Amino acid sequence: MAAITFLADCMLGRLAKWLRILGYDTAYFSDINDEELVYRALQEKRIILTRDTHLIKRKLARRCLLIESDQVLEQLKQVIDEFNLKASSRAMLRRCLLCNTPLKTLSKGKVKGRVPPYVYKTQRSFAYCSRCDRIYWRGTHISRVFDRLSQLRSTASPPLP
Ligand SMILES: [Zn+2]
Repeated sequence: MAAITFLADCMLGRLAKWLRILGYDTAYFSDINDEELVYRALQEKRIILTRDTHLIKRKLARRCLLIESDQVLEQLKQVIDEFNLKASSRAMLRRCLLCNTPLKTLSKGKVKGRVPPYVYKTQRSFAYCSRCDRIYWRGTHISRVFDRLSQLRSTASPPLP
């Protein structure tokens, strides 16, 4: 089975970023009309994520998920639950948050002088986006999101019989 890929609508930029953090290929365009969005999703076999109830009624919008919440973590949880996604910290840092390009790993030696000294000292693995010329590492905000996600998950577990 091919890896699952997404196309987020204009209102879901933050959700797209978080899906990329989790390692999922998620296309996003801040200015794209519905027709183009639906066409692209079809061409690239992506699942449309949208807040727009009109969009999902379009004939060509075959695979899509209507996102219910306007809170990004709730949105993320909905997508994770719906498609049974794995939110593992091992898959993180595989895609650029900003442009969705797959990241390359960088050895520690190559980032010296290009990241803050504290980061250089404390982080072990680095990743690089050749398109944005940007270096990534596991920040504390990412582990915080994983904490929040596991909280969401535990509150949503089915009640005991
Ligand atoms: Zn990038």
